[in-house]
Amino acid sequence: MDSNVSEKDVTVIGGGLAGMAAAIQLAKAGLQVLCIDADPEGKVIVGESLDWSAPDLLNALGLPLERLIAEDIATYKRHVVASSSCGGGREYVPSAWLGESPWNIDLRTLHVDRIRLRAALREIVLRHGVEVMGDRVSEVERNSKRVIALKTQGGKRIGSRWFIDASGFAVSLLPRVFNLPVYSHGPSKVSMWSYFNVPDSIEGTTLYIDGGKPSYLEWVWEIPIHRNVISVGYVAPGDAIKARRQQGKSVENIYREQLERIPRFEPLLQSVAQSLPSVTSFRCRGYRRIAGPNWLVVGEAAAMVDPMTSNGVTAALRHAAEASSLVVKYFRSGRLPLLARSTYSRRVQALAKFFNNGIERVVYDWPIRNTIGVLNAGDVYTVPAWSINVLYSRIRPRGFVASELFGLFLASLRAVACIFYWICSRLPQPSTPSAGSAL
Ligand SMILES: Cc1cc2nc3c(=O)[nH]c(=O)nc-3n(C[C@H](O)[C@H](O)[C@H](O)COP(=O)(O)OP(=O)(O)OC[C@H]3O[C@@H](n4cnc5c(N)ncnc54)[C@H](O)[C@@H]3O)c2cc1C
Repeated sequence: MDSNVSEKDVTVIGGGLAGMAAAIQLAKAGLQVLCIDADPEGKVIVGESLDWSAPDLLNALGLPLERLIAEDIATYKRHVVASSSCGGGREYVPSAWLGESPWNIDLRTLHVDRIRLRAALREIVLRHGVEVMGDRVSEVERNSKRVIALKTQGGKRIGSRWFIDASGFAVSLLPRVFNLPVYSHGPSKVSMWSYFNVPDSIEGTTLYIDGGKPSYLEWVWEIPIHRNVISVGYVAPGDAIKARRQQGKSVENIYREQLERIPRFEPLLQSVAQSLPSVTSFRCRGYRRIAGPNWLVVGEAAAMVDPMTSNGVTAALRHAAEASSLVVKYFRSGRLPLLARSTYSRRVQALAKFFNNGIERVVYDWPIRNTIGVLNAGDVYTVPAWSINVLYSRIRPRGFVASELFGLFLASLRAVACIFYWICSRLPQPSTPSAGSAL
């Protein structure tokens, strides 16, 4: 049965981080917002180690860093530590000068408990008068490039002047409906993760990486989401996991096997009952032309950045802020001009490509990593990546000229990484890279 729901100014598809952030900003600007989420009580959310630009973006939504810490929604992240299986490690910390004028960057960022963060954001969403509907959008009614209405599995037809698609990586609703061009980086990957109780944790993210020169990197994260709880996740190419599954191994076997290789986790695996690992698969990819006359795509529905970059949350919050300010600006005219569409789209793409291309070429793939060593590769990736995020937060390129100049700058850094990759791939390697990898 079809029933029409009263029209709101804007309908947001998806109530994850990007969807809620967009809904809050639109409602704060005085617009009537409906947010539809297929799984409003979903228990599995990942993305706990934040980049240094994320706290300011959360603050803008009404969640200052101090509150997140005080309410035990977050812990401090003061550094990233890379620990190599061949011994040795490296601590990556933002340079002290970033904390000084004119940058004045807070040198702390956060790890977050995503379930608690979602609850805090949901409370803000409701406080701003956003209507939240638990249903799945199953059909999109369109007139050429305009979205006219949505149909839900629950049989509702929802009309709206504007639409924001925040449906996440697995769905990417409007990119699929409009058959938008897609580009990808690296292979499909699988991630499995679980939580452990620990007596105490450090205020940083630890990455356990294979120092044995594999052809493609696998890694394990340790993220303290509370003082006594760590999230431990394993990321590997989909083909490698598939091969192990074909040998009859369960997801739990594969996960335990990886953790057993890391001395830090041995006592935890023996003494602490852990929940079964959650699993997801993903591929770093992005869509082009992610804005139309009355719609924009945000978050992972627009571009998925690799988890090792810790940039997914920052990207989702940025997209949400930029897309909602465009809706507010052009709300009355009812039409996003072509230039504004293309500028938004190109900016999102340029950043996602920069992070994905950098992490794939410099860290995941073998030529650069095996030539200069995995810990140095970490420096080569981290220094420009962190600086770009800081620069972006400070410059806030929005208009056509600023966005294009920023995009050119990112493209030139990508080109340098490609040349370095090409040179390293032609250098004689001390030992032939192996096909599989073991931490
Ligand atoms: C393994 C892994 C590790 C990660 N680690 C990090 C990290 O350490 N740091 C970091 O910054 N980022 C990380 N990320 C990225 C981060 O999790 C995401 O970028 C972030 O959660 C933003 O997601 P989103 O809101 O775009 O999408 P999602 O969180 O996926 O939300 C999409 C929402 O849309 C809803 N939906 C889907 N389809 C429909 C439909 N048809 N109708 C209605 N609703 C629908 C879903 O129910 C969901 O609530 C990681 C990602 C992965 C996969």
